[in-house]
Amino acid sequence: MDSIKGDGIKGDRIKGSCRCGQFTYELNKPPVYAGYCHCTECRSRNNSPCTSIMFALEDSLSVSGSSDRYSELGGSGSTIEHFRCVQCGTILYSRPHILKIIVAIPAATLKDASIFKPLAHVWVRSKEPWLEINDGLPQRSGQPKLPAALLEQIR
Ligand SMILES: [Zn+2]
Ligand SMILES: [Zn+2]
Repeated sequence: MDSIKGDGIKGDRIKGSCRCGQFTYELNKPPVYAGYCHCTECRSRNNSPCTSIMFALEDSLSVSGSSDRYSELGGSGSTIEHFRCVQCGTILYSRPHILKIIVAIPAATLKDASIFKPLAHVWVRSKEPWLEINDGLPQRSGQPKLPAALLEQIR
């Protein structure tokens, strides 16, 4: 499957870790999507007006270190599992069940933050009213527009 061309994140062997450093990950393929999420769940979970997030194929992700997980219901009503460091509590990645083969990784965990190349703002309809977006990126009212080839696989 093709990953995002153009403005998408480039490169391979992308690495990141939790805040204390014991729970780490590596991607052997570039993420398939990157953007800012303004959904209510992300805002509340991360105590942040929006979250810089990457989507990657689950089979491109390898992790090491001790983690635990918890589940919650996402905005769509389907389950999302969060995997976090047992020491510092940082969520390193999440599995939205509705996306099947995709994991969501907060870009703040990246070792090299400069490789994050957001494509859009998503779930802007639940954005904080005091947050102004003026970076010129597309703003989507709801979910991300994933590449067609990817959508085929998660249908
Ligand atoms: Zn940690
Ligand atoms: Zn979100």
